[in-house]
Amino acid sequence: MNYTRSSALFQEAKKYIPGGVNSPVRAFQAVGGDPVFIEKAKGAYLYDADGRQLIDYIASWGPMILGHAHQEVVEKLIDRTQKGTSFGAPTELETEIAKLAVKMVPNIDQIRFVNSGTEACMSAVRLARGYTAREKLIKFSGCYHGHSDAFLIQAGSGALTFGTPNSPGVTQGTAKDTLLARFNDLASVANLVEQNQGEIAAVIIEPVAGNMGCILPQPGFLEGLREICDQNGILLIFDEVMTGFRLAAGGAQERLGVQADIVTFGKVIGGGLPVGAFAARQEIMEFLAPVGPVYQAGTLSGNPLAMTAGLTMLNLLDNNPEVYRSLDEKTAYLHQGLEACFKAHPEIPYQINRLGSMISVHFSDQPVVDFESSALAARGDSFSRFFHGMLEREIYLPPSAYESWFLNDALSYDDIDKTIHACEDILQNWS
Ligand SMILES: *Cc1c(COP(=O)(O)O)cnc(C)c1O
Repeated sequence: MNYTRSSALFQEAKKYIPGGVNSPVRAFQAVGGDPVFIEKAKGAYLYDADGRQLIDYIASWGPMILGHAHQEVVEKLIDRTQKGTSFGAPTELETEIAKLAVKMVPNIDQIRFVNSGTEACMSAVRLARGYTAREKLIKFSGCYHGHSDAFLIQAGSGALTFGTPNSPGVTQGTAKDTLLARFNDLASVANLVEQNQGEIAAVIIEPVAGNMGCILPQPGFLEGLREICDQNGILLIFDEVMTGFRLAAGGAQERLGVQADIVTFGKVIGGGLPVGAFAARQEIMEFLAPVGPVYQAGTLSGNPLAMTAGLTMLNLLDNNPEVYRSLDEKTAYLHQGLEACFKAHPEIPYQINRLGSMISVHFSDQPVVDFESSALAARGDSFSRFFHGMLEREIYLPPSAYESWFLNDALSYDDIDKTIHACEDILQNWS
């Protein structure tokens, strides 16, 4: 494979940008080799700096649920750009998208827009702390809620209970307020709640985890969390930055039938521009400034360019609910195709996890249900071999065993067949 130009661009980028990238996963460290530089994209395809056309299973990590450079989004953005891109003053557009989001998502009355998923989760936690007048937070190992300090916590020595910073720069003081539980393990949550009676403001979770591969909540897990939260005056925060407007118009809350107290959004809600949001019932949202005491602000929050992309995307999804069925069917087809490839090679252990248009392949003979089982599957180089095999065959997967793949509705069945054949071919030549 000839990636001469991408590699040269990467060398140059590394001189001026740490690691050559503005977000670490893009550097391909988990799979080795140089990242592919992208020049443009349309529909289901990326076009790289070496002139290759790649079938895309990342969709910019989720936002491009209808494919890249969707014509309606592009046209609205061009039109909007000519009228000014930011005023630092309110616009009618913000109310329009807020109204639509509140209509589409169950159990929320109000929503506030920010500029990233990180900001949304960070602000949601501050709001939960302000509302409950409590300080501690429970998160699950392997769940990602952006790069703000309170979330960069890993299991400390011995137990999962005591968090320690997993990045220099995060203080011990911050770490002590984040408690770590195990995904799909209600007892681990109940224990933390028991040991910290009256101190826990919120439990934050990806209702379907997408940052340790795609990991589904086991039956009763989210319902159990809801119950623990209700019994202990704890707010349940669903981080729907990945799942929001993807698993259903109303996200995981709708798809799985469990209600959260605060919901965070990012990715799809911005239609490809930098947007995040958090939402809740009115009594909670009114704790926010300027109505309430919890401070939160943003110079470019709700800017008309971002809101135009987001509003156009949400309108497209709201007006075309069949998109979700189409995405489900395509992903199920891919799932079956990959499954058949692996079945033909019983010596290669595998697990495929999927819900809706999120799917991941793990090289393990054990079910992948939490961070520990995902990490076990990620040992060794099977995933990177698979990844590079796919890339050689012009299929672009997330460059890490810990990421979900995201399907977009511009993918054709031909694209998916090509992907399945690539998998077949890779596994033929595996040993
Ligand atoms: C991507 C992601 C975030 C962070 O969003 P950014 O826009 O990258 O800051 C938070 N939570 C989840 C579940 C995500 O997938």
